Amino acid sequence: MHWQSIIRRENGYAVLAVLSLSFLAWYHWGMNVTQRIDLDVPGISMMNDAINGGNSLGHFVQRDSTLSFTCQTRRSNTFPFCSVMIPTSSRAVQGLDLRRFHSVQIKLSYSEASDLQDSVLVYLLNAEHDAISTATISRANLQTIIPVNQPTYSYSLPIANFYVPSWWSFLHSKISDHSARLDNVTDIQIATGDSHARKNTTITVRSVEFVGKWLTLFEVQFVLVAAWMLAVTVDVLVRLIALKRSLQANQNRASLLDMSLTHANRERDKYRKLASLDKLTGLYNRQGVQERYLQRLDIKETLFLILLDIDNFKRINDTYGHNEGDAILVNLATTLTAHLREDAVIGRWGGEEFVVICSAKNHTVATRIAERLRKSIADSQLSLYLPVTCSVGVTNVDRSATLQDNLERADKALYQSKKDGKNRVSTGFYLAAEPMA
Ligand code: GH3
Ligand code: MG
Ligand code: MG
Repeated sequence: MHWQSIIRRENGYAVLAVLSLSFLAWYHWGMNVTQRIDLDVPGISMMNDAINGGNSLGHFVQRDSTLSFTCQTRRSNTFPFCSVMIPTSSRAVQGLDLRRFHSVQIKLSYSEASDLQDSVLVYLLNAEHDAISTATISRANLQTIIPVNQPTYSYSLPIANFYVPSWWSFLHSKISDHSARLDNVTDIQIATGDSHARKNTTITVRSVEFVGKWLTLFEVQFVLVAAWMLAVTVDVLVRLIALKRSLQANQNRASLLDMSLTHANRERDKYRKLASLDKLTGLYNRQGVQERYLQRLDIKETLFLILLDIDNFKRINDTYGHNEGDAILVNLATTLTAHLREDAVIGRWGGEEFVVICSAKNHTVATRIAERLRKSIADSQLSLYLPVTCSVGVTNVDRSATLQDNLERADKALYQSKKDGKNRVSTGFYLAAEPMA
């Protein structure tokens, strides 16, 4: 599996969880940092009870990176002690920030000439600026070692266990905060212990090391919380963007579909219309007339049929050719359209036969319309070569009968016109359907 496929978004949280756990494990078992204090630097000094008027004897020797001091206490009016001051850094005021360390490891040998059981005191001296006196004060943070019965032993003192001793609080009673502070530790002071008995002590300090982590627990928690918040934010953003994109894509698809549907509907309507039209004249063909007829039955009106047939058309065709015949058919269609109202249905029923469905007030009006059509055909020049006439049959529409039944009556009337000498109008009404007027 390729690494890119592992770091896919679906696996993102699992990967982050594994990374978080690894980070915590690393913090717990690794990530160690140690700071070793030099014991052969020149700044090391002794501080004995002489500062309080005592006269104990103490001196120290630096050899092979170790620091050894002896102390012979002498009885006086003050508490007898000796101590060595080890600077944590070469700079006097700038100390160590021990907040990211969890312990100080001190390897030392302790020997006492008498049978005395004594302690060893470890002070971490923290340089601070006192806002009230504007002086620099040195806070004593203390922890006690009870030496074990071994020549050399490494003592581990938790940083959190250091405390400010009562004598320091007493001397600095004006300062309100008497808790341990270790953010600027300038010196480590190792002193003889609390026993008042006379003693002859040798303490050899072999190493001093601060042990801690690169990051504090707070920083580790901060990094983890920040990483998870970032991951969730990015994930939500990515999902929102994807959602927006897919909505947009769906919208586009829908509008495309809509467009193609509209197009398809338009095409369908076009072909449906073409199917109901006569190709030569553009009038309705039989199918078209049939459809219009059924539609007109829904309207409450008095309907009439006018059937027209060109006279002697075969002869015209034979004499002047089929093209001339076609031209006459087209011209006749134009004439009919020009002389009829827009609501009239005009169709080509067959070869040179035309049908009109129109509404009229009564039989007389319908007959007058038919006569007007006949006359305008006879008067207009449908052909350049000869006058063209047609015979006409008129009937009313019996709504209970089919178009064919009604047309039969019109056809009979038309036949009558032919028989009577052509170029005339004959009527044949269905009497029960409409009273004659
Ligand atoms: P009548 O006066 O009795 O109606 O005689 P007619 O010659 O008009 O009638 P007939 O039925 O004998 O002949 C009709 C002719 O119409 C026959 C056919 O060649 C012609 N015809 C039919 N359809 C078309 C067409 O689309 N174009 C042309 N040019 N002629 C057509
Ligand atoms: Mg005919
Ligand atoms: Mg004819």
